Amino acid sequence: MQSISPEIIFRGNDAWEKSLPLISKLTKSPLILGRGVKTNNLRKQIYIDLKNQKLNVDSANLQFDCCFEDISRIKNIILKNNCDSVISAGGGKVLDSGKYIADCLNIPCITVPLSASTCAGWTALSNIYTKNGQFIKDVALRSCPKILVYDHKFIQTAPSRTLASGIADALAKWYEASITSATIDDGLVQQAIQISRVLRDQLLIDGEKAFNGERENNRSWKNIIEACGLTAGLVGGIGGEKCRTAAAHAIHNAITQIITPNKFLHGEIVGVGLLLQLRLEEMKNNNKLADQIIKQLLVLMKALNLPTTIAQLGINVFENNNLEKIAEFTCRDKSEIHFLPFEIQKQDVVEVIKNFEQQKIKI
Ligand SMILES: [Zn+2]
Repeated sequence: MQSISPEIIFRGNDAWEKSLPLISKLTKSPLILGRGVKTNNLRKQIYIDLKNQKLNVDSANLQFDCCFEDISRIKNIILKNNCDSVISAGGGKVLDSGKYIADCLNIPCITVPLSASTCAGWTALSNIYTKNGQFIKDVALRSCPKILVYDHKFIQTAPSRTLASGIADALAKWYEASITSATIDDGLVQQAIQISRVLRDQLLIDGEKAFNGERENNRSWKNIIEACGLTAGLVGGIGGEKCRTAAAHAIHNAITQIITPNKFLHGEIVGVGLLLQLRLEEMKNNNKLADQIIKQLLVLMKALNLPTTIAQLGINVFENNNLEKIAEFTCRDKSEIHFLPFEIQKQDVVEVIKNFEQQKIKI
């Protein structure tokens, strides 16, 4: 069984308003789930609009992350108030929590992404973290969300940093899926990989214009937010679990194990993981193109103000045994790094990160 996409998708300006009649049919007592104070006003608007539809609306906020502590607290609120759906309005962590909770309680989830930072509004997958943001595992859900509302006016209000993060996460799709799944002769998987290539091209062509340009009436901006929030999700939907993540996400998961005072966004860390994956491909798989790809990606990443080293993520790998810890977690038994078509040992990761953090690449 495969859940390829949300049942219904509303997209564009005023997608939220357009979705209200259908949402009112689907649910009578929704719980609005959110997190950050910066998006409070948007969630207030969502709350008022649902109230005006004569729905019995509750709301709750995550305190930490998409973690078991928050999940069980929110589940209890839903059970106590007899809510019959979850409307997740926020970034990736909020969307993942809402999807996971709705799946556990067997009630529909409506996702309302408030930035283009991930494709979590689309997918049947939740990443679970600790309270402190350390990655624990990803969980496959029974289905994609019931309704996805991708309202451009909401996404326009998000900081540019979230868009850059979404671009880095979406870029990784091609580099991860093409290396892990190129030998799979399932046509649908192959086509999903081809979509991720087109997605990458779109990001390379329009990413910088979308990031720097105005948001209203800007075709590049629209193309890119939809690439990050929708097309990236579609790749995962069609490709399924065979269209896999690889080293970029494995390294992301490992980097989150080091707790830092400043939190970085998912895609910001994945971007650094992607550069490291390419170095591993160069070292272990004799990939002669990897160096060129790194240079090409660095140009875009710098233009988007994205971190390009682990040091820029606020972690000194040469302190506190951090390098060892990252390599250890990257290479743990269940890690996605083992989906690479060549063997990776802990020492390879140590070596690549060491060289990477010390080198000065001229571009
Ligand atoms: Zn990701």
